[in-house]
Amino acid sequence: MKPLLLIIAYLAAVTLPLVLSWLLGGPPRPFRQELASGLGILAFSMILMEFVLSGRFKSISNGIGMDVTMRFHQIMARTALVFALLHPFLYQGTPSGGQRPWDPTRQLTIATDFFALSTGIAAFLLLPSLLLLAIGRTQLDYKYETWRLIHGIGALLIALLLLHHTVYAGRYGSQPAMTWVWLAMTGIAVGSLLYVYLIVPLVDRARAWRVTSVTQLTPKQWEVTVTPDGHRGLDYKAGQFVWLNIGHNSFSMKENPFSICSAPAAGPEISFMIKELGDFTRTIAQLDSGTVAYLDGPYGNLSVDGRTEPGVALIAGGVGLAPLLGILRQMRLTGDPREVKLIYGNRVVDQIAYRDEMGAQDVFYVLSEPPETWHGETGFIDAALLNRVFSEKEFSEWIFVMCGPAIMMDIVEDHLIERGTPSHRILSERFDYD
Ligand SMILES: Cc1cc2nc3c(=O)[nH]c(=O)nc-3n(C[C@H](O)[C@H](O)[C@H](O)COP(=O)(O)OP(=O)(O)OC[C@H]3O[C@@H](n4cnc5c(N)ncnc54)[C@H](O)[C@@H]3O)c2cc1C
Repeated sequence: MKPLLLIIAYLAAVTLPLVLSWLLGGPPRPFRQELASGLGILAFSMILMEFVLSGRFKSISNGIGMDVTMRFHQIMARTALVFALLHPFLYQGTPSGGQRPWDPTRQLTIATDFFALSTGIAAFLLLPSLLLLAIGRTQLDYKYETWRLIHGIGALLIALLLLHHTVYAGRYGSQPAMTWVWLAMTGIAVGSLLYVYLIVPLVDRARAWRVTSVTQLTPKQWEVTVTPDGHRGLDYKAGQFVWLNIGHNSFSMKENPFSICSAPAAGPEISFMIKELGDFTRTIAQLDSGTVAYLDGPYGNLSVDGRTEPGVALIAGGVGLAPLLGILRQMRLTGDPREVKLIYGNRVVDQIAYRDEMGAQDVFYVLSEPPETWHGETGFIDAALLNRVFSEKEFSEWIFVMCGPAIMMDIVEDHLIERGTPSHRILSERFDYD
């Protein structure tokens, strides 16, 4: 889906309950109460939409990119939290003490029934905890899989608590038509969780893969190749990524995102370039041939297929080479007539992978800690280097595709924009969303 269409769809979904409540609701109450209800309604619908923005829906993340989807998910979660925290306090000054029999539309009173309020209070306490756990994830020393499980269960619990609170305590939510709207929206949110953790693994179960080789590329980087086990393989574009689960059943939470570094034109086998980082990636060396694997994907929008720019600039830092290598391989295999240049930065010479295959023509190797015998580029991938490699015409006409450490991507992107590269000609993939 196109980004603009996605934004419109998101705004429509988030504001739908608010607009319907306004249309279906009774006579207006004082502004402060309406604002309180409005913020509560918006917070709840935003929280429900967070399930769909979890990054596992290709129609969303393949259109705008996984990193943009996840950033949006994070920003909207924080916005929903602010709305949710303000919601109860704005009701201050409103008469309470139970609903008056002559006030059926709750214009003059707010619900004080403990049963109806308790779920709201529980969600009110849980929501900031969930966000704090997500924001402080890297500081808190627990496994990524554990965090994902807590995040999923916590979000589900909050959605159910809020559904109860909205329907039983909400002035608008208690109206039958709105109750159905909230039930449907919560159903979609919960359904999206079931889809990701039940339906997709069920489908994947019938499409197993097998590890065919594990090769050490550099001291801390490995190439893992998998082949389809009794099926035709994956229909993907060079530069995309999958969630890879190796050695577990297809329902396991132990899956990690990895870019595909092989080219679709090379056949059904798929290769990954994996850098040792944590629990799973440090065990790659022990993987046996024949180990079962499951691939969920393809995801991502890092693709130059169908683009009309005359040249492709690939800018990689470290293991960020993986998706760009897939693109380079595909271009070479298919005899793509577009010009291509690759900048590949590393710290030391031992970290350079696939050097023999990539060759030297139009490949600019950059080392920040070069040996004395080094004849390539030195330092970091910065403005000066980009100016040496690309001409004025290339800056304005080529497509730039980059993947690497966040700092590298920020520097490159800023410089490209300064040199006049329009933003629709800059594609990037981030390996870390924090
Ligand atoms: C779109 C994308 C493409 C990627 N492609 C590559 C690639 O081609 N090669 C490569 O070496 N690395 C790639 N990564 C990074 C890779 O996913 C992590 O290095 C890997 O998951 C670490 O797992 P671990 O169990 O070894 O480390 P852990 O100790 O479990 O985690 C270390 C860090 O890795 C990240 N991480 C771990 N598990 C996940 C997960 N399931 N989802 C998202 N992030 C996770 C988290 O930031 C976590 O803090 C990519 C990441 C993304 C988001």
